[in-house]
Amino acid sequence: MENTVEYTLRMKKELNAQVLVVGAGLAGFGAAVAAARNGARVLLIDRAAMAGGMATTGLVGPFMTCFNNNDDGKGRDRQLIMGIFDELCRRTEEKGGAIHPEKVEGMTSYCSYLWDSHRHVTPFQSEILALVMDEMLEEAGVTVLFGVTLCDCITEGGRVSRVIVAMKEGLCAIRAGLIIDCSGDADAAWFAGAPTVLGNGRGTMQPTSLFFEVDHIDRDRFLGELEANRHRLNRHGANCFHWIIEEKKKTGEWTIDRDELGNYEQNLPGRWKINTTRMAGVDATDTAQSSEALREGRRQVQQVLDFMRENLPGCEEIRLVQVASALGVRETRHIAGHYTLTVEDIMEQRRFADSVVSFAYALDVHNASGGGVTFTCVKDYYNIPYRCLLPRGVDNMLVAGRCISGDSEAAASYRVMPACCALGQAAGTAAAIALKAGVNPARVDTDLLRKTLRDQGAVICD
Ligand SMILES: Cc1cc2nc3c(=O)[nH]c(=O)nc-3n(C[C@H](O)[C@H](O)[C@H](O)COP(=O)(O)OP(=O)(O)OC[C@H]3O[C@@H](n4cnc5c(N)ncnc54)[C@H](O)[C@@H]3O)c2cc1C
Repeated sequence: MENTVEYTLRMKKELNAQVLVVGAGLAGFGAAVAAARNGARVLLIDRAAMAGGMATTGLVGPFMTCFNNNDDGKGRDRQLIMGIFDELCRRTEEKGGAIHPEKVEGMTSYCSYLWDSHRHVTPFQSEILALVMDEMLEEAGVTVLFGVTLCDCITEGGRVSRVIVAMKEGLCAIRAGLIIDCSGDADAAWFAGAPTVLGNGRGTMQPTSLFFEVDHIDRDRFLGELEANRHRLNRHGANCFHWIIEEKKKTGEWTIDRDELGNYEQNLPGRWKINTTRMAGVDATDTAQSSEALREGRRQVQQVLDFMRENLPGCEEIRLVQVASALGVRETRHIAGHYTLTVEDIMEQRRFADSVVSFAYALDVHNASGGGVTFTCVKDYYNIPYRCLLPRGVDNMLVAGRCISGDSEAAASYRVMPACCALGQAAGTAAAIALKAGVNPARVDTDLLRKTLRDQGAVICD
């Protein structure tokens, strides 16, 4: 079958910006706010109807820890992700939509009764978060367009000259001096021809999940059961209610490839985010595969609800509040950038002269088959160099969020939302500096970048 169609299209519209940010998840939000606050004229586009990415359309939460990994609980905790992320948490808390992470401890209902790398998470309500993001983007002067999908890049001489997007008006073009790819899947980099690696490079990616939210749980009985079993908890991969799930697996009443109920209470007491469905072997850059994963996810949501209702104390009257509209995708493409962060860089705490983010969440690898999680804590913190944000072969592009240049195991740590926001802030700040200096992102003065980030609240540990 002929699969090439050649045609000439008269664009209905051409938009332009100094900086185009693709994707309004935590990374794109951080990038757009930072670039605009540092003087750039910014256009932020997203295919969805709201900002937040996984945090809103995916209902994923809480924000995983933004503190160093100090597990002794003796007051040597240090918040590593500050800047725009901290502002977002504080402003969402002021609106009654979050609890600031400094007030949240491990082994509580907010973090599914885990301690390692789960202290100081941020419980939040997705709807309020989206509202605060709208406000912060507007205050920074960012133009935001929803319902806009990037579907191609036209490149000339190693630069993207136009981005092609699908929107209500049809196919349109955007001209931008610089592009920051925060699509999660490295779509812009991929369409521009930059090298990328899918998953671990051997076709394996972390499994997908579909989040949902519930209420009407008898909180005292539900938490009472967990408190009575504290000695059986803090087991990554087989944690809350594993003693019931293991029994029900034997009788065939539990068929999901997961050995625990991931339950995260929000700032609203009695409302939980549930992270328990699992669809493995899904390449989410393939539309047919992600569509089937969404359907299977919705079926599994009903199975989990039935299981909770019948087997878990306090869940007899449980009520489904909402199911995520976006599939929870942990991993797809990583760019192959100017530097690739490795798991050894993380575990050996290697230092880099161009570090822009310091982070400390564990290597949280959801096994690609057979259920379970391989969870490896990191020492105190590690650093991510600026070069991981630079795709090869495309001179006017930066990348932020889960698709930066790192190996699959390294990404299992920095893929979580606080790091993505900080990576976005670094990319947005670098873009503004590059524009002012009239240079490509690869030629940005990284001492100036690091100083600007620190002056604007970021923590970078040397
Ligand atoms: C099941 C699951 C559980 C997780 N648990 C946690 C957790 O508890 N805590 C935590 O902190 N992190 C967690 N994570 C990780 C985290 O949610 C994501 O890795 C993180 O949100 C990625 O941020 P991002 O900004 O890079 O991408 P995303 O949040 O995915 O945002 C990308 C945005 O780009 C848009 N987009 C994509 N392609 C295009 C295109 N072509 N054109 C226009 N727009 C586009 C999307 O609509 C989206 O809004 C979890 C992830 C999953 C999947």
